[in-house]
Amino acid sequence: MIKIAPSIFAGDFSILGQQVAELEKAGVDYVHVDIMDGHFVKLLSFGSKVIRDIKKCTSLILDVHLMIEKPERCIEEFLESGADIITIHFESTLQHKWLLNEIRGAGVKTGIALNPTTPLNVLDYLYDDIDMVSIMTSNPGLNGQSFLPGMLNKINDLQMKIIELKRPIDIEVDGSINEENIKEVIRVGANVIVIGRAFFTAMDKPGMVYNLKRMK
Ligand code: ZN
Repeated sequence: MIKIAPSIFAGDFSILGQQVAELEKAGVDYVHVDIMDGHFVKLLSFGSKVIRDIKKCTSLILDVHLMIEKPERCIEEFLESGADIITIHFESTLQHKWLLNEIRGAGVKTGIALNPTTPLNVLDYLYDDIDMVSIMTSNPGLNGQSFLPGMLNKINDLQMKIIELKRPIDIEVDGSINEENIKEVIRVGANVIVIGRAFFTAMDKPGMVYNLKRMK
């Protein structure tokens, strides 16, 4: 079954609690939380306090995406924030194994995100340590980016690799996903869909989620 993970960054922060309640009512699976440091990526979002506050008002799975340089400097605060999944960027650190072990050791699921130009083979020695791979389908942490159709092959290659390895690894797609390209990413193997503006601007959110989750 497809999992839908709206990114709370695309919501209205002046009514954050209401927005989270709306996600629950719509039947989504995860709250995707984009942490951007204004350094690893251009945009700056918020820190771990917002995750702790969201945790207080929802039972949804918190899918935390760290777009921060050297996450090893501050991983503890995110491990203590109530995150259920923590995804680090391959390009943001040289301490992949250590970080993934720390995350798993804290009982949190692990993810690795790959920027559009990062090849899949960087994961070759990491498959044992990850529960999810997040394929960035647009350039991360910048405004006004569009979906990169070249990522469809990458998603498909990753799916083949995971089947070959017989591992229960989720394939997340993140970046400029909308109702037009969602069918394509699911067709080539994605099963966790991060959706931003397209979710928050939808008139019938429960209907949208219902249809997306049953898409083949
Ligand atoms: Zn994200």
